[in-house]
Amino acid sequence: MAAYVNRTISMMAGDGPHITMNNGTHRVNMSNVDSPLQIFVRAKKKINDIFIEIDDYVKDAVTFMHAVAGDSSIASAQDLTNVEAYVSKVQAIREVLKRDHMKVAFFGRTSNGKSTVINAMLHDKILPSGIGHTTNCFLQVEGSDTNESFMRTEGSEEKLSVQSVSQLGHALCATRLQECSLVHVYWPRELCALLRDDVVLVDSPGVDVTPNLDEWIDKYCLDADVFVLVANAESTLMIAEKNFFHKVSTKISQPNIFILNNRWDASASEPEYMDQVRSQHANRCVDFLSRELRVCTPKEAEERIFFISAKEALLTRMREREKPVSSPILADGHQIRYFEFVDFERKFEECISQSAVRTKFAQHSRRGKNIAAEVMSALEQVYNTACEMKASKVEKQRILQEQLTAIEEQLTSITRQMKEKIGKMVESVENKVSLTLSQEIRRLSALVDEYDTPFRTERSALEQYKRALHRHVESGLGSRLKKRLSADIGHEMDEAQKEMADRMYTILPVHKRAAAASVIMPHQQPFEVLYRLNCDNLCADFHEDLTFRFSYGITALIQRFQGKNTNKIALKNPPAYTPIPAVMGPPAATTDVVRLSNGGAAGAGAMGPLSAEEWGMVSRFALSALTSQGTMGGLLLSGLLLKTVGWRVVVVTGAVYGALYAYERLTWTAKAQERVFKRQYVAHASKKLRLIVDLTSANCSHQVQQELSTMFARLCRLIDEATTEMDSELSEVREAITRLEQASTSAKKLRNKANYLSHELQLFDDAFLNN
Ligand code: GDP
Repeated sequence: MAAYVNRTISMMAGDGPHITMNNGTHRVNMSNVDSPLQIFVRAKKKINDIFIEIDDYVKDAVTFMHAVAGDSSIASAQDLTNVEAYVSKVQAIREVLKRDHMKVAFFGRTSNGKSTVINAMLHDKILPSGIGHTTNCFLQVEGSDTNESFMRTEGSEEKLSVQSVSQLGHALCATRLQECSLVHVYWPRELCALLRDDVVLVDSPGVDVTPNLDEWIDKYCLDADVFVLVANAESTLMIAEKNFFHKVSTKISQPNIFILNNRWDASASEPEYMDQVRSQHANRCVDFLSRELRVCTPKEAEERIFFISAKEALLTRMREREKPVSSPILADGHQIRYFEFVDFERKFEECISQSAVRTKFAQHSRRGKNIAAEVMSALEQVYNTACEMKASKVEKQRILQEQLTAIEEQLTSITRQMKEKIGKMVESVENKVSLTLSQEIRRLSALVDEYDTPFRTERSALEQYKRALHRHVESGLGSRLKKRLSADIGHEMDEAQKEMADRMYTILPVHKRAAAASVIMPHQQPFEVLYRLNCDNLCADFHEDLTFRFSYGITALIQRFQGKNTNKIALKNPPAYTPIPAVMGPPAATTDVVRLSNGGAAGAGAMGPLSAEEWGMVSRFALSALTSQGTMGGLLLSGLLLKTVGWRVVVVTGAVYGALYAYERLTWTAKAQERVFKRQYVAHASKKLRLIVDLTSANCSHQVQQELSTMFARLCRLIDEATTEMDSELSEVREAITRLEQASTSAKKLRNKANYLSHELQLFDDAFLNN
């Protein structure tokens, strides 16, 4: 009773819904901004928004996993499948969330006024009420998103048109329905605050008409947030009513039950018993809820029991909406009953809102947190893997860079050293070839002497002899040079090549070392000096002079005398008198030089150290003696000799001279001619070969240089290939690092977003659940 009084006072003080008094009528403000139902509405919107974000997040995570799953070992196909599975899970939760609503189920005996209570709460006559309209099926009233009202029977998509309550009643009567079947009644949300705020109201057949209470509960009660027992205040709670809630409380833990003692307007006719009856009913109801059902404490139970008149409440609201009403006369105390009805609505709204938020959204919030945590864990794993892989790639990059720098530095140093080495070798080979060739030229006469083919002076035989001698000199000289140079230089070459390969070998990466060995392998054959001694060409201008010349002839004596003096003077004054042969001089000059060295007659162009005057006098004597014995010169010379030494000496000398002449003339045989020929040939060939000493040694050194440079270049190419491979490997590693960096950054962002979503859900819990 105290609770009742307090409630009434508080309602009168305006601590509840907005009620205005206007000319004796009550007007309920349809604005539901302050309605407790808004808690559910806001919670639903909030959690919906969070799940939209979770949906986006999971899709982003899947896109990311797809991107990284291609990249070998960052994420496995299984990780991708696991994350993908969350997309459908989130979709399913969002679908459930869309359908989530607050559900209140009304139970009680037939004609207790369940439909009338629902209509009063909806501010309109939506459900048919009255004895004639009682139906034996479940009616679920819910908001329609369109402006039309219609109904749908269970399992059918067909919209049955319902424009008015009478039509609905007619439609229900026309449809043969099972007792336990459900009919959905869709009513425009805009016409009704409760429907707008996602409240679904379920009217049931009377609990007194069915034995199938279990089936009812299983089908329509398990998801109900609030149960309203509409009792008849004119009688006491019946066993049938109590039984039903006993069953409910066994199937649902702590159901929220309100008891409406309807038809309280009847008490107005017996005001003297009103308090007594009310107290009796209230006590029984408190007892039923707290002791029998044990769903709440007695104090809480007092807050769940109301004495109302649904009929009056509906009437009042219909009036407010200026709708035609059949019975405008209200009994005494209707205002207080109406306040209590409004109080019930308020308590009911608070209860259903909190209960629905807790039962429905707590579960979604929990699942949302789990999903965020699981996706976060998958991303954490990807992040860690990406970081580890990145670290190893960075290490690899460092090693590669160091190797490349080291190779570059060592290559520069080796190249410099090898250049110096090759330079020195080239110089040494050049000197060696030059020296050896000079030595061989010096012993050319021995080589020529070894040639032992019959010598004949006929022109054709002589030409043939010459050609064969060329071949002999070529091959003899060639084989000697080869013997002396190739082994020596080859050894040096091998050493140099070995050193080169060894040095390069150390800077080559391991897998390239076998290739380096193969670069050297083909050169197992000893090095051979290549040169070209073409005597045919070299001695093409060689013309032998096989004319007989008496050794003690005047000219020869003069020549000898001149040669001795020349040597003396040449020694005294070398620059002025040393004959300088032209390197590529005209054939005539060359021939003269050959003749001189041959000991033959002096050439026309040879100049002695005597003065021109002396030369003139001696020449004249000599020539006159040689060319004309009977001339004046000869006479003069004979006379001069006779006069000075006596005729005997002259005769003896003449005899000896003649004998010498005769001797030489007789010994001027083919053999002697061959010797002269060979001497002339040796002199000529030596001179010509000396001319090509520099060229040949330069060629040989060039050959060595070529050989070593080629090998060095081949080794460098190997290094180049290796560094190119390392460069491409380095750029691959760099690309991988960039990819891994992007992957780890994205994984980190997504991981942080999961934290953010978990935090959002926690805020949601704090705002709507943990109070
Ligand atoms: P239901 O079968 O439980 O749905 O009961 P109804 O809502 O159809 O009501 C049955 C009858 O009781 C109707 O004629 C209503 O007008 C009437 N009725 C409902 N509530 C009240 C009330 O508070 N006072 C009075 N006097 N009659 C009521």
